[in-house]
Amino acid sequence: MPHDDPRRRIPRTDALVAQLSSFHPSHGRDAVTDAVRAAQEAARSGGIDPQDVARHAMDELTSRESCATSLRPLLNATGVVLHTNIGRAPLSAAARDALLTASGYCDVEFDIADGSRARRGRGTLAALRAAVPAAQDALVVNNGAAALVLATTALGVALGRPEVVVSRAEMVEIGDGFRLHELIASAGAVIREVGTTNRTHPTDYADALGPRTGLVLKVHPSNFRVDGFTSDVGVRELADLTTLAERDGRTPVRVPVLADIGSGLLHPDPLLPDEPDATTMLAAGATLVTSSGDKLLGGPQAGIVLGDADVVHTMRRHPLARAVRVDKLTLAALEATVRGPVHPTHRALHLDLHELRARTQAVAQALDASVVDSVGVVGGGGAPGVRLPGWAVALPEHLAASLRAGTPGVISRVESGRCLLDLRCVPAEDDARLIDAVRAAIGGDA
Ligand SMILES: *Cc1c(COP(=O)(O)O)cnc(C)c1O
Repeated sequence: MPHDDPRRRIPRTDALVAQLSSFHPSHGRDAVTDAVRAAQEAARSGGIDPQDVARHAMDELTSRESCATSLRPLLNATGVVLHTNIGRAPLSAAARDALLTASGYCDVEFDIADGSRARRGRGTLAALRAAVPAAQDALVVNNGAAALVLATTALGVALGRPEVVVSRAEMVEIGDGFRLHELIASAGAVIREVGTTNRTHPTDYADALGPRTGLVLKVHPSNFRVDGFTSDVGVRELADLTTLAERDGRTPVRVPVLADIGSGLLHPDPLLPDEPDATTMLAAGATLVTSSGDKLLGGPQAGIVLGDADVVHTMRRHPLARAVRVDKLTLAALEATVRGPVHPTHRALHLDLHELRARTQAVAQALDASVVDSVGVVGGGGAPGVRLPGWAVALPEHLAASLRAGTPGVISRVESGRCLLDLRCVPAEDDARLIDAVRAAIGGDA
């Protein structure tokens, strides 16, 4: 075999069997070896990438292990990239491998060289800082909501400055009836609303700043848009206002400006011009940026905090930080997402349209179905104005229920009396499984 033959990257049987046996203890060694051999064979014949061998073997074992979790794997044929009801961002193969590594004993908080305690999740924090050089430090908590509560508590309430200044245009309900300002208030902060629904001016903020101000909060209204007679105050202006207030002696310290960007883009994405990103916000003068890990960042559920070293340190040392800390699985998957190859969320957003059309036509042909235009969306409460044009395989509407109930379950989009399969969020290697699932649904129907 030539030196650079990809088949050289196929993991060895004994190592994989040992790894998967510890993850699937309920399977005998023979069953695990069978699954590993089948996946290696698929990689040798070019059916799957050598780096996906572990995942394929694991998927195979998981599908046999129907009683181990009540969660069922699904194919997302909705065209909605971040679908809240089916788990937001799917993890990359690298992140899934990292989960496996972290699932046993691992050095999450341990220095292997000298056998002493080490900073928890240091690899993940280093990955975030390397990805966002504008951030002096980083912190990872349970989710975006936890990041906000920890920031307002540790930087405001705990320091005797409970007021959080926020524009009325940014009083957002994030979903399932939860409202960010109520969340913050539940932890003892006092919301100081300024401006109006459509217009907020610099003087509105300036008038509100005082000795009781803990934070100025800038929330990205991620799930709605206000058009028309509007104006708002950007992060750069807010940073200038807080500097002035400190110089005037109106606030005893420089009031931190926190930008809650929601989706977790680390850098600008030209496809999503209205989505704020961490790098740009920090460069504009935000003291802190908070976001989710499982929206556009494409990783596990987490809350990401990036920014000023002293401020992040204050948050890290607050007792509440312990209550919202993340487990080793999250740290592992997040590090792999940030360092790793392009993740499925990014891939679904930036698909090659020729390829998407060719795949859609091939699936339609295999099923004797027609192809129609389809428009996907970012979803997950993000980028509400962005349309993701593509195509879908059109099936009779009544198939939607049997598709959902199949193995794997297929979630379609029911629209204008048809059941549409948009392949944008279906990994290309799963097209054959999708075809099988549809045939099974049609067969079960007949
Ligand atoms: C999604 C979102 C949140 C909540 O983040 P979770 O990770 O779901 O807790 C907070 N703020 C904004 C702007 C969001 O879009």
